[in-house]
Amino acid sequence: MDQFADIERTLIAKRDEVTVRLARIKKNLTAGRSADSQEQAQELENAEVVDALGNEARIELSKIAKALDQIKNGAYGTCADCGEEIPMARLEAYPFADRCIRCATAEEARRRR
Ligand SMILES: [Zn+2]
Repeated sequence: MDQFADIERTLIAKRDEVTVRLARIKKNLTAGRSADSQEQAQELENAEVVDALGNEARIELSKIAKALDQIKNGAYGTCADCGEEIPMARLEAYPFADRCIRCATAEEARRRR
């Protein structure tokens, strides 16, 4: 859809960026293990941090893929809860938004309870 062409470009650029980041994280994760036990403990700790970063990147990638899919099949920009159109300004600020502000705020409130 033409009205989302800019957002699509943003999403694709973001996907490339996150893919590179994830590749770098994976490389760090599989980097050589040292024999020294103290160093190993430190490495394990690093691996956990790296793993968390990797998960974050994977979640981001799946959100990007979902948004790109929705742009393709015309479902993009519609609130997943109430079916209302999500305002363009919100989509530009949050290209992965799948809910309008009202429903997103309600969801946040539910989760905080
Ligand atoms: Zn809504």
